[in-house]
Amino acid sequence: MSHYRGRFAPTPSGPLHFGSLVAALASFLDARHAGGEWLLRIEDIDPPRCPAGAADQILRQLEAFGLHWDGPTLYQNGRGSAYQATLERLVELGLAYPCSCSRKQWRNYPIYPGWCREGVREPGRPVAWRLRSDLGLRPVIWQDRLFDEQHFDPATLGDVVLKRKDDLWAYQLAVVVDDAEQGVSDVVRGFDLLDNTPWQRQLQHALEFPELRYLHLPLITGENGQKLSKQNLAPALPTDDDAVRPLLHAALAALDQAPPAELAGSPVAEQLAWGGAHWEISRIRPEPHRTTVGGAPPSD
Ligand code: GLU
Repeated sequence: MSHYRGRFAPTPSGPLHFGSLVAALASFLDARHAGGEWLLRIEDIDPPRCPAGAADQILRQLEAFGLHWDGPTLYQNGRGSAYQATLERLVELGLAYPCSCSRKQWRNYPIYPGWCREGVREPGRPVAWRLRSDLGLRPVIWQDRLFDEQHFDPATLGDVVLKRKDDLWAYQLAVVVDDAEQGVSDVVRGFDLLDNTPWQRQLQHALEFPELRYLHLPLITGENGQKLSKQNLAPALPTDDDAVRPLLHAALAALDQAPPAELAGSPVAEQLAWGGAHWEISRIRPEPHRTTVGGAPPSD
């Protein structure tokens, strides 16, 4: 295998919860098992969604779980000029275009119908920048390390937004530019991001960036079957060691790694060493995982 470099790339819209711990842990263990590096990137491109202090809290949570990253942390909010240069390159290639349409105008279509592809429909209005996802017309295919072959027809993808009307950068562009900038080889992340991957691969291909390997992880749901998220009040990960140890063990179990029961009381470094040595993707069941830990507190 070429040199392995993984990353964890949380959006600091709030503290990490059990679902984010599982993603961070899988990415960390996969990197350590491969003898590779593991980087951290804070995806703070949308300041109104990122409360002050959330990024620092994420760093403290990762440290409390022993998930120490290599090298400096990359913050996306300082990366505007790199994103702008990339957008300009895509425009030159005929792969990005300005669009004045509002969501309301195309609400009866499953995807944005591409009305501004041949020129802005309502000149003078604010524009977003979109990717021409129809060009090339090659199906997007990759071999996911857990979910096997993935196959997306470009006609069904839609022209995703790269830069928003309010001038904020969109996730799809930022993630591709920064994965390339940081020399990432392997992406390990939650299943909810799997259907974003085709646009990312299209962008990588258009920009002649290296292809990445992908491992998408089963969704972690609470007892109610809903995805753990900030929206449905999944509690923040603790940072006190007594609470951290059993939760790290539960995260190893949620990844179907079958950690020995007695490991639950062990120091995090020991649990992580065990996890890295025994890491086996083939154990992970590719279906949603319900957890009884870290779910939303029951409502009465
Ligand atoms: N920032 C994204 C999130 O927190 C994840 C990006 C990624 O792993 O590609 O959902």
